[in-house]
Amino acid sequence: MVTGDGKCCGPPDTICNGKCCPQGRLCSTIDGCCNPGETLVDGKCFPFHPPGAGIVWTRYPSLTEPLFVYKWLVVECQAADAPSIPLGLDTNIRQFLGLPGVGYGNIIDYFHDVSYNAAEIVTEIVPWVLGPSRPGNRADFVQKCLQAIPPDQAPDFANYYGVIVVSNAAPSNAGACSIGKASMTINNQQYQLACVYFDQNSLDIEFAAHEIGHGLGLDHSFDNTSTICGSGGKPGEYCDPWDIMSARLDYSFLDRNWLEGGTGSPAGPGMAIPNLLRLGWLLTANEAVFQLDEDEQTFTIQALSHAQVRPSLQGQPPLVVVMDIGPWPTYYTVEYRQSDGWDQGFQGVSAGQAGDAPPAVQKQGGAVLVHKALSVGEPATTLIETANKGALLQGDTLVLTGEGGLNYHVKVTGIGTANGTATVSIGHGTG
Ligand SMILES: [Zn+2]
Repeated sequence: MVTGDGKCCGPPDTICNGKCCPQGRLCSTIDGCCNPGETLVDGKCFPFHPPGAGIVWTRYPSLTEPLFVYKWLVVECQAADAPSIPLGLDTNIRQFLGLPGVGYGNIIDYFHDVSYNAAEIVTEIVPWVLGPSRPGNRADFVQKCLQAIPPDQAPDFANYYGVIVVSNAAPSNAGACSIGKASMTINNQQYQLACVYFDQNSLDIEFAAHEIGHGLGLDHSFDNTSTICGSGGKPGEYCDPWDIMSARLDYSFLDRNWLEGGTGSPAGPGMAIPNLLRLGWLLTANEAVFQLDEDEQTFTIQALSHAQVRPSLQGQPPLVVVMDIGPWPTYYTVEYRQSDGWDQGFQGVSAGQAGDAPPAVQKQGGAVLVHKALSVGEPATTLIETANKGALLQGDTLVLTGEGGLNYHVKVTGIGTANGTATVSIGHGTG
């Protein structure tokens, strides 16, 4: 169809005041086609409105300059079998994955926070291209969408850590294509790229952080039982409800900034310490170490949502106690998680599929968690179960067995929610 300005509109485009708007853009009767990411206020194009309820997010402190910069190419890709792009999806994608949504708890904030700025997510967005029908195979769909980028707009894919393709399709087998980077051939050129496919229902922090976590190299988290937690899962897989890599069987909270079907979506929790260590996102300055050749040792650790920045001369308050009791490559980590920040789903009604955190944890306002970690191999992180889903409450003692069958105990001697700290006493024997 030829419009008033003499241009042809393709079937996916919308006509706005006699002109063609690329699909997904809003149309103002006053301003005409709005720019990408713009919204309508009183009929006029407005450059920005905060996402959803516009709740400002309090970022965790940065404990380091970025150690790892993960540059992702985000490609908006219209599925051939999904004729319309929902109004507002374009804005939602840009706010959820890009700089316009930073400060509202978007995906860049999430990875900044859980890594204390060690991991920086950088995104560049390619506007709508026409892809194939919605995917059976994610990597295949992503590859075809990348090949659909007009040559004059196509970047050098070698410059990116990975690609995120977001389609306008309804729920459609969304998720990561692989753990970490994998080989992908685009226009007969081979690249090593992490690869994530999202549809219009994927833009919630719980799901998206989990899938991008796969792209960054993390597998699922486990517990130390043989319970089948997730359908199709191995024994113990998806059984750490305190960790994002067990989504969607974790304790998440209702996030009113990122809406799905007009209502809030699940977000959180944070990331278990062994996953942070596996990715190299935690500084040794923030690790305390249990000394094998000493008697009972007391440690005060900060909640992961309450990291503290102090002048280096005073030393950094630790976020973890590492217990290198073996046998290699096994070690154990002791962390404290408080019901706020990305872990606020530990309190009250969980938005996730795991149900609510144990009442005793809600009453205490947080919990000490012990994980078995592997320095190489899988699973990277295994929650040690307790009477309260792995949570250790004040007064609880957990006994671990290390190299040579030697026992060690971890006793929680204090929880201080006002300061965001837990005190633990760790030593030899059963305690
Ligand atoms: Zn997964």
